[in-house]
Amino acid sequence: MPVTILIVEDELAIADSIAYALRTDGFVARHVSLGAQALQAMRESDPATVPALVVLDVGLPDMNGFEVCRQLRQFCNAPVIFLTARSDEIDRIVGLEIGADDYVTKPFSPRELVARIRVVLRRLAPPAACAVPMPIPATPAARFELREAEARILYRAQTLDLTRYEYLLLKALCERPGHVLSRAQLMDRVWADAPDTLDRTVDAHVKSLRAKLRLVDPADDPIQTHRGMGYSLAGT
Ligand code: CA
Repeated sequence: MPVTILIVEDELAIADSIAYALRTDGFVARHVSLGAQALQAMRESDPATVPALVVLDVGLPDMNGFEVCRQLRQFCNAPVIFLTARSDEIDRIVGLEIGADDYVTKPFSPRELVARIRVVLRRLAPPAACAVPMPIPATPAARFELREAEARILYRAQTLDLTRYEYLLLKALCERPGHVLSRAQLMDRVWADAPDTLDRTVDAHVKSLRAKLRLVDPADDPIQTHRGMGYSLAGT
């Protein structure tokens, strides 16, 4: 069955170009112009044909994309790719842990967006479930599994899609669960090859890491902040 993608975009020319690229690539494209319509579409779709992914413009006439995403996350875990026009919006997408899977800045190539959509869908191989509670284990047995030989880390049995520094950061925390590591210690371990690293680089990577962990389990926040001291990982 063809995969449906929901486009939420009030600029018709942009929506049309995305829809065209999607259809050329074998997807079914649905388009709405308002945030409220997007929520309604995701809520009311037949489970068999519910959109597998949402392309979500940040600047919508009725509500902004962040709010749409926040409300969507209350009943649906379909991946979201944001369309954004401004760099301060990118900071919010990366920093505010709002559950986005990727973002594309305008102007963009519809072909590139479709390629990103494919990557996100591949990464989340099990189909998105909507209108049903997300299965989250109440008392997790083992949160993290470090597979050093493969340079990857599993969280709740799912491989995390990490950048190099996110991987090294989480690895450092995983190796000493429950121990508080200061920013300086993390900089030594993770950014040994980048001596001019700033404290806020550590904080920024913790933020992006938290956002990725939250995609797997929105109810869990295993990285603990110790004000003025550093970070620790809750016991694995
Ligand atoms: Ca717009």
